[in-house]
Amino acid sequence: MRNFPIIDLHCDLLVYLLMNPDARADGTAFGAGLPYLQEGNVALQVMAIYTAVEAESSQKGIIQSVIYKNLLDDYADSFYQADAEFKPTEKGVGMVASLESASGLCNEEEPLDNAFKNLETILENVGRLFYISFTHHAENRFGGGNYATAGLKKDGEALLDYMSGKQIAIDLSHTSDALAHDILDYTYKSGLEVPVIASHSNFRDIWDHPRNLTRENAQEIVDRKGLIGVNFLRAFLNNDSPEALLDHINYGFGLSGGKEAMAFGADFFYTGDFPDPARLPYYFPQHENATKYQGILEELSDNLTESQLSALAHQNAERFIASNWK
Ligand SMILES: [Zn+2]
Repeated sequence: MRNFPIIDLHCDLLVYLLMNPDARADGTAFGAGLPYLQEGNVALQVMAIYTAVEAESSQKGIIQSVIYKNLLDDYADSFYQADAEFKPTEKGVGMVASLESASGLCNEEEPLDNAFKNLETILENVGRLFYISFTHHAENRFGGGNYATAGLKKDGEALLDYMSGKQIAIDLSHTSDALAHDILDYTYKSGLEVPVIASHSNFRDIWDHPRNLTRENAQEIVDRKGLIGVNFLRAFLNNDSPEALLDHINYGFGLSGGKEAMAFGADFFYTGDFPDPARLPYYFPQHENATKYQGILEELSDNLTESQLSALAHQNAERFIASNWK
């Protein structure tokens, strides 16, 4: 069996480390713990800074950027910072940070200027942000989350203007449909240099869930040379069928130009203190940690060619980095 290098666009290791003071990045309680990343041949893992809509959101954003920086110091033999020349190598697991909710830049009450100041501080700590998702589940000052209905707000427009030309993608994985529409519309009409991706989302035509992409939005991401990272969470695949992961991936390859956009965004997060028993287990066993990508690629080989498998595993994300980072 081939051992593909893997690039994964989303995991929540940083907030796991923030919320669980005894947790370690090199433990096995977390699906994207270092031992799993190494065994799974993960060449690059995007580490999201996750925040909810709460008063302490901006503090938690900054703290997670410090946790990210400390990982690079504490695990210098294993993790390294990925740069614009990134290629999978033997030297370890590459890392790059991202922002899962712009609430991590400022809460609902602070002056918007704080968002830009905090963004600069976070960038100093993490070196680069692969992408910013404006929202998580809920609505915030930037727009509507995936369980909300609001579209793009004035603060969201200001943040998009600020991001233009800074090599930071906008992530549509947690938008309301209205926010996705408005971001696509605003970036296009204003001629902004902001790449568009969905870092960890599946397809609504395969499984009808608000976290999944409509065909129209998925096609627009593909047309803009973006990326779509397929998500391993059972709730977004199909509650009863692990094979649905393959259906989502094959569907993505079936979009016009989809072969250049499909990637992994497994979405490993800490499930230990999650309140909803209906979501147990969060992952099917064959998808439950970062060692599982190779088996998934093997299963896909009935349907996809070798070059399609490489595109999914790492080449599309590499191409995106090469064309968007300097
Ligand atoms: Zn998420």
